[in-house]
Amino acid sequence: MTVSELLFVVSGLLLGLAFQGGMLLFLIPFAIVAFVLGWLNRPRLAGPNSQQSTASLPIISMGKRNTSTVPLVSPDLRSEFRNETGRFNEPEAALKVSQIWARANADINEGMRNMMRAMKIVVPHVNSVIVFTQLDSPKDWGVRNVINDKEDSVNPGTRISENSGLISQLFRPNVNRILEGDLTSSKSLLYYIDSVPVKSVVAVPIMNYNGVRVGALVMDSVYPNAFNDQIAQALRFIAGSISMLDCKGFFSAQKHIALQQYSGLYNYQRKFFQTMTVKDIYKQIINYVQDNVSYDRLTILAMNKVKEGSGRVVYCDGIDAEQFSEKRFTLSDKGIFVLALMRNRPVERSFSQGFNDYVPRLNDNEKRNLNLRQLFVMPIATQPDSTEADIAICLESAKPVPYTDHEKELLKAFAGVAGFAYDRARKFEHGRDLAMRDGLTGLINHRTLHESLRTEKIRADRKKYNIGVLMMDIDHFKHVNDTYGHPIGDVVIKGIADTISGEIRKEIDIVARYGGEEFVVGLIETTAEGMVETAERIRKAVQKLVFDVKQAEPLRVTVSIGAFLVTPDFHDMKKAVNNADQALYRAKEGGRNQVIRFEEETSEPAAPENSAT
Ligand code: GH3
Ligand code: MG
Ligand code: MG
Repeated sequence: MTVSELLFVVSGLLLGLAFQGGMLLFLIPFAIVAFVLGWLNRPRLAGPNSQQSTASLPIISMGKRNTSTVPLVSPDLRSEFRNETGRFNEPEAALKVSQIWARANADINEGMRNMMRAMKIVVPHVNSVIVFTQLDSPKDWGVRNVINDKEDSVNPGTRISENSGLISQLFRPNVNRILEGDLTSSKSLLYYIDSVPVKSVVAVPIMNYNGVRVGALVMDSVYPNAFNDQIAQALRFIAGSISMLDCKGFFSAQKHIALQQYSGLYNYQRKFFQTMTVKDIYKQIINYVQDNVSYDRLTILAMNKVKEGSGRVVYCDGIDAEQFSEKRFTLSDKGIFVLALMRNRPVERSFSQGFNDYVPRLNDNEKRNLNLRQLFVMPIATQPDSTEADIAICLESAKPVPYTDHEKELLKAFAGVAGFAYDRARKFEHGRDLAMRDGLTGLINHRTLHESLRTEKIRADRKKYNIGVLMMDIDHFKHVNDTYGHPIGDVVIKGIADTISGEIRKEIDIVARYGGEEFVVGLIETTAEGMVETAERIRKAVQKLVFDVKQAEPLRVTVSIGAFLVTPDFHDMKKAVNNADQALYRAKEGGRNQVIRFEEETSEPAAPENSAT
């Protein structure tokens, strides 16, 4: 190694260290001094117009690759940056992530351009210095930076792909540099907009840590034989520094983001502790994913805990979201999302563009979108080692870039916390249900009824409508118990509860088990006629019920019903229930199996309404 080469090495190393950032930046001047000293100590060159050039013939050197100086560079750095711009529905916190990337990119480009400028100053007669780096695939490079006296002469949209021009020679693993001294036309360079009379080109590959070529450093001149072996060698060192800079910049940005995201994870852990309902857990999961991972479609699946083997899409956002929202599925559907959920295992897939290698997400009859190129499913289970998951976070991206290990790790860590929180919320809801509901019939209990009636009354007053209150009691129930036994009595109570529920509007009207064999119904937004009609419907439906008690005669029962209409000018809901109870008393007195409406004015009960049907 000559003194000159040694100085170039020192310069390269100093630059590499300098671009680790922080305090080491002061090394830049030393690096430049070493480079200039190296340059001054270079073996004497022939002038650009000299005929005794050391490189008089076009050369494509096929030197052995020196693995010890393989520079480090992140292979998907460009893709990472580009990922950020095309993000779907970018949330606020994720913007911060893209800001970090943008800043890192600007810093890297600044350092890169400084090195390129130094080359242009130190080497005589340079026209352009260009850095190409990888776009979507290893054999697709684009212009990253240009140093040129009039930069617009280089087309920034130039793409170098297989067999396209001179630079694409560097795709070949055995080509470690291009050194041309007598080009006949600049056409094969592809990157000039107008024809420039380029005579000399020197180019070296930029390689990542795996020795994969992820770009090129190119220098050209309008002078013939402007470059020689030493310059090519110097260019290699600069290429090494460029890739090291790129890599360091990438990892430092990634570290920054990771730190931010892990502290974010901790914040979510705290938020989860304050989340008591399953619905809110879903919301937290959605927020977290939107803050931390990019996607073009996000689908969240949850298993149905009551009806085993089935589930539904609890959330969908992005491409064709309306096709998936609220969709139900069963475990026999065999969509890839469902399989991940069923097996409690993360699933990752890449799809090639233009090929119909579509894999159903939920089932066969869904809308197929071939533009979604990446898929990652992270299941969430309440027990980490359980064979089946409870929730699945399904991410899809239209970009061909796989989800990074970091993103996957982040989701995995999050899934652990979310699974725990989900389990806790479910148990909480279950406990609340136990306290609110009656175990035999599943109806709300006495206390919950009064709460619900109060809330409904507030709404009714705002909108000015009536609430009908029905109080009902099974006729001669002691006799049922005495004749058939208590367990059969329970079956009857359950049967009547189900019958009542079947005759009212689900999710609108209220039905409660008020006492042993007494029920209260709240009919929301009704009229006097509507209320009596519903009461009659219930009475008749109960009368039609037959209970098979394994005896000659099947068991039949009837109910008596008292009704009271709560108009907007009536405010005491407890009194409303009492009034219905008084009407019930009259129905019992009047012979049972009938509906009696409470009338405040008259002490006489209303005429028994077609009680015998
Ligand atoms: P009436 O027509 O006047 O209502 O006559 P009745 O025999 O139904 O009288 P009442 O409503 O006072 O009867 C209540 C009976 O219901 C008393 C109790 O044994 C029975 N009972 C209350 N709760 C339960 C229960 O959970 N299961 C069973 N099997 N019986 C119950
Ligand atoms: Mg009773
Ligand atoms: Mg009774």
